[in-house]
Amino acid sequence: MWKFFAKINETTAKCKICGNELSCKGSSTSGLRRHLECVHKKKVSLNPKIDFALKRPKNSFPKDKFKILEDEAMRAIVKDGLAIGAFEKEGMKRFVSLATGYEFEGFSRRQLKRKLNRAFREKKYEPIL
Ligand SMILES: [Zn+2]
Repeated sequence: MWKFFAKINETTAKCKICGNELSCKGSSTSGLRRHLECVHKKKVSLNPKIDFALKRPKNSFPKDKFKILEDEAMRAIVKDGLAIGAFEKEGMKRFVSLATGYEFEGFSRRQLKRKLNRAFREKKYEPIL
């Protein structure tokens, strides 16, 4: 973090890239991080070690496994009351990628909704009321 900024005083830091002075009250660096991300398009991780561990696998998902996973995602939505958009979120994509060893692109909310509606029509699942 601090390789991009020079601390001027307790509340101000200077960006080494554009020279802008930014406020960094207390030990909060979230404003500085936002500046790097928004203005300079730099991704700054909170903890480089964690980011390293979370490197996504490159193997693409086999079709049959993907299908099984999709069924299980729908089951989790119906049984656990998960949000239908939960599987297109970044954290979930990373989680599944790590857990399976395949690059997981996520299930889109629209796609799942369509399939769930069909599953309900075919009475694959009992609706929870
Ligand atoms: Zn800057």
